[in-house]
Amino acid sequence: MDVLTPQQRQKNMRSIRGRKTKPERIIALGLHSRGYRYRLNVKSLQGSPDLVFRKHHAIIFVHGCFWHGHDCHLFKVPATRTKFWLEKVDTNKCRDLRNVQNLLNQGWRILIVWECALRGRSRLPNHAVMQQCEVFLHSDTKLAEIKGVKNS
Ligand SMILES: [Zn+2]
Repeated sequence: MDVLTPQQRQKNMRSIRGRKTKPERIIALGLHSRGYRYRLNVKSLQGSPDLVFRKHHAIIFVHGCFWHGHDCHLFKVPATRTKFWLEKVDTNKCRDLRNVQNLLNQGWRILIVWECALRGRSRLPNHAVMQQCEVFLHSDTKLAEIKGVKNS
């Protein structure tokens, strides 16, 4: 597995991160322009939450629907190495559940924004997603999610 040179690996990681951050950036920039301040990718908290709002005791995760195994149209089971991928996604889902539970126990409130709320045929208008984020930030809700709308 370890056949990449350090340079190749770095390049690889960067492109993976670049792809991964897109929906996350929409949320981060949108909330920033609405005056919210947060810390990004906080490594000291379990699961390195994407956005942390200390003032609101709140965390926002922006989840890619494939990696985090969302039950939606963006989750497509790969045709090759199917078992490997399903097991991998399953491991991710278990870890997500554990992280959420631990963070809730620590008194954090958690909002999960799914990729399908921002991308693809089920997406919502960006301003609607931002508005739901704002409502959550100002609520007492412990756990919520925003996902795409199924329109057959
Ligand atoms: Zn989804």
